[in-house]
Amino acid sequence: MTDAQIDAERLLFPAPKPVSLPIAGSHARFPVHRLYCVGRNYAAHAVEMGHDPDKEPPFFFQKSPDTILQPGEAFPYPPLSEDVQYEMEHVMAIEVGGADIEVERALDHVFGYGAGLDMTRRDLQSQAKEMGRPWEVGKSFDHSAPMSAIRPVSEIGHPGQGAVRLWVNGEIKQDGDLSQLIWKPQEIVAHLSRLFTLQPGDLIMTGTPAGVGAIRPGDVISGEVEGIAELRVAVT
Ligand code: MN
Repeated sequence: MTDAQIDAERLLFPAPKPVSLPIAGSHARFPVHRLYCVGRNYAAHAVEMGHDPDKEPPFFFQKSPDTILQPGEAFPYPPLSEDVQYEMEHVMAIEVGGADIEVERALDHVFGYGAGLDMTRRDLQSQAKEMGRPWEVGKSFDHSAPMSAIRPVSEIGHPGQGAVRLWVNGEIKQDGDLSQLIWKPQEIVAHLSRLFTLQPGDLIMTGTPAGVGAIRPGDVISGEVEGIAELRVAVT
């Protein structure tokens, strides 16, 4: 019996509802499969985290799609951390899957783009790094991926530049530009598709510019990827 033939009634308890994101200008929603993140993809951010900004191969980690926070939802300050930080990121939404995708054809696989926050329990991530352990507890905690709606390529094309900005309580904290990405969106898709067969619904967060920092309950985070998406998240 294939998965598709299994009746919902035979499941021990109701399966979780699929995660999806709104599509700007449409009633349709983008169904999310997996959520990949690229580490250290802006030179100035690599430097602020204590690393060499030279172009080394991109590296990836995943957040569970369950961590996605819908546009407009508040971010509950998570437990067991004293240093919860924002990372404003440009997000790619994959519509057409594939393996070993060529850089030249990579953007044909993209449905659209959005803005997202890769919220991070920095103290737990730093501890994991020091001990050579995985990053999940620092990166993939509940509600750690606030997202905007997805803007279709049919509307905005494939932007290669545009500000990536973030404010906390109206004060600007991050002010980068898509043109500063070390690995470009098409190169990210090509690399990632060699490691994993990409599937329709995969999201890719492309890394954060310099200026990451901590937030506290009561703060309001706002951010934009210029010409693509904006988000506003209250920390509770
Ligand atoms: Mn990040």
